[in-house]
Amino acid sequence: MVGPARGAALRGGEAETILSIAEKLAKERRARLAAERLLEQKKRDLFAANSQLSRHARSLSDQIVEQRQGLELARTEAESLKGRNSQVLHDLERANCEAAAAQRRLWEAMETIGDGFAVFDVDARLVIANQVYLDLFATAGIALGDSYQRLLQILSDEVAELDGEDAQDWRHEMLERLAPDEIEPMVVRLADGRHIRFVDHRGEAGELVSMALDITEAMEREAELEEARARAEAANRAKSAFLANMSHEIRTPMNGVVGMAELLCGTDLTDEQRLFAETIKSSGEALLVIINDVLDYSKIEAEKMRLYPERFDLERCLHEVMLLLQPKAREKGLKLLVDFDLFLPTRYIADPGRMRQILTNLIGNAVKFTSAGHVLARVVGIERADHDYDLHVTIEDTGIGIAADNVDHIFGEFNQVEDQSNRKFEGTGLGLAITRQLVELMGGTIWVDSEPGQGSCFGFKVTFAPAEPAGAAVQPDRPVLLKRALIVDDVQINRVILERQLQTYGLEVTNCRTPAEALQALAAGPAFDVILTDHDMPEMDGPDLADRIRAAGVTVPILLLSSQPDAAGDRTAEMAAVLQKPVLRSQLLKVLQDLSHPAKAADFVPIAAAPAARSDEEARAMRVLAAEDNRTNQLVFRKMVADFDIELQFAGNGREAVELWRSFRPDMIFMDISMPEMDGREAARAIRAIEAERGLAPVPIVALTAHAMEGDRASILAAGIDHYLTKPLKKAAIAARIAENCPATARPAIPAASGEPA
Ligand code: ADP
Repeated sequence: MVGPARGAALRGGEAETILSIAEKLAKERRARLAAERLLEQKKRDLFAANSQLSRHARSLSDQIVEQRQGLELARTEAESLKGRNSQVLHDLERANCEAAAAQRRLWEAMETIGDGFAVFDVDARLVIANQVYLDLFATAGIALGDSYQRLLQILSDEVAELDGEDAQDWRHEMLERLAPDEIEPMVVRLADGRHIRFVDHRGEAGELVSMALDITEAMEREAELEEARARAEAANRAKSAFLANMSHEIRTPMNGVVGMAELLCGTDLTDEQRLFAETIKSSGEALLVIINDVLDYSKIEAEKMRLYPERFDLERCLHEVMLLLQPKAREKGLKLLVDFDLFLPTRYIADPGRMRQILTNLIGNAVKFTSAGHVLARVVGIERADHDYDLHVTIEDTGIGIAADNVDHIFGEFNQVEDQSNRKFEGTGLGLAITRQLVELMGGTIWVDSEPGQGSCFGFKVTFAPAEPAGAAVQPDRPVLLKRALIVDDVQINRVILERQLQTYGLEVTNCRTPAEALQALAAGPAFDVILTDHDMPEMDGPDLADRIRAAGVTVPILLLSSQPDAAGDRTAEMAAVLQKPVLRSQLLKVLQDLSHPAKAADFVPIAAAPAARSDEEARAMRVLAAEDNRTNQLVFRKMVADFDIELQFAGNGREAVELWRSFRPDMIFMDISMPEMDGREAARAIRAIEAERGLAPVPIVALTAHAMEGDRASILAAGIDHYLTKPLKKAAIAARIAENCPATARPAIPAASGEPA
């Protein structure tokens, strides 16, 4: 653009102008470059700002997305919360409804029950009560919030019948009652006649829940029941009294029937007449057994049965029962056996009469229900720590037995085994029921084991105190070496027991009923090692027999068994020992041991002086007074004593008996108990009173009673009567009493010929 020509032309000024232009151009260029650079810079800045902006924008939009999502979430959550909330509200509403319904039902229930119901809070203020409860205090009116004390105040002042008890005391008592954890119920009688039982219970938090039960009806029913029970008991007493009276009324004529039949049997009769008479007698006796059973049972039932414990010999009692049943057993060919434990005492304290009844029932049944074989009575026992004895008595038979289904109920009343094999036996079915009750009355237990067709074993366990000196036990180290014994006793039971005892020590025994038989046996038989003789025998007494034995040249040791050793006086020179009857087995054994080992000489029992001897020629007859109102019984009595050597007078009642006793001075009196005007007890009391007043020796009085009612026995003995005999009278029992009481100054009343009293 700028040529050289032009350059020449523009020299000077021109050159300057050109320079400034160039400068200007350069400036411009620089400026342009700078602008371009700036632009470049700005472009770059802009780009950076742009990219930062876009980054921002991106992060911003990310945030927005995120926030939008969060918002969405929050919205759905809010939605669901809203739903749940309305569910809760719904549930709450329903729960409220249900609670209200439950409360309504509870209240309805509380109002429906006939009993009062209330709750008191820990401060004893009423918080809930149903109408029945509130009504109890209606007269004064109570409200929720009232205190328990106020309620008691209203009760004591206006509502309850305190039967004279002080109101304050009563309230105090009612408050005291709430103190223990277990609160005793309390019955309050209201003035309107109702009976309310307050039953209270302490809640866990200390509140008191109280029920007020109206027991008026129950109380009335109870009173009615009580009255009915009293009536029933009175009726039962009347029944037992009626039975007792009836049995007495029946027994009195039966006494005549049986007694007369017995006398009739003793007369000359044709075989046919004898059969009739014996049937009358045995039927009468069977009837009496039934009457006794019924009477006993009614007494036990009326709880009138009492036991009268006294000393008695159990072994003897057992033998006596066996002996009574012997005739029946013999008829059937049955063996009766007794096994009384050698190491046991034989005497105990118990009621002998009831013991005999138990044994008679069990052994009687065993004999009744056994047609072949044996009946064995076994007594074993052990001494307890308190020295009483646990005794086991078993009665074993080989009879018809009892089926298992019947075993349980034979001890019940009127229960007999109903089957073909049993039908032929008679009985009331009361025997075992009475036996069981008697054993239980004695504190014992009874049982039976049985196998039909094989036999039965009845057993009972009782605990008795022994009645003999301790330490009398058997000494096994001194064996009895004697071989043969001779027994002389007119009473069969004594012979039987002695024989059994001697047999257990290994002796062979010969029994004699009379001294004459004994002398014969000594003359004829083998040599004996010991002779045991009774003291008092009809033909000849023990000491006389001893003299006769020695006179015959026999030197065998003789033991005298006596119920009254003193009466033998100095006539015991020939005796190796005198033993008191009933003989203690341990004592007998000791004597036998002493005789076996003579180094230890036998102890002699000291003997008292002899009584004045009798002279039969000058002596009078024994005087006997019998008080008996019944004509037939008088006749029976007269006949029974007809062959005794006595002077007999009758009194028709108690008053006559007392009068006759004054004038007749009898040696003994037989006294009927129930008589008109004055009964036997009163008469005995009157006689005893006069005797005491005048210092007279008491006359022996023997009561004649019907099957003794319990209590009778006690009242009879309390009247001063010495003994009693139960009707129907037996000749042997009367003879024994007369013989016992015959005074030394009178002729012997019982002739030797009247024989064995047993
Ligand atoms: P009773 O002998 O008067 O019938 P019990 O009460 O004495 O009444 O006996 C009830 C029943 O028990 C008898 O009828 C009999 O069936 C049965 N029984 C009792 N003892 C025996 C016995 N030793 N053997 C078989 N049965 C017996």
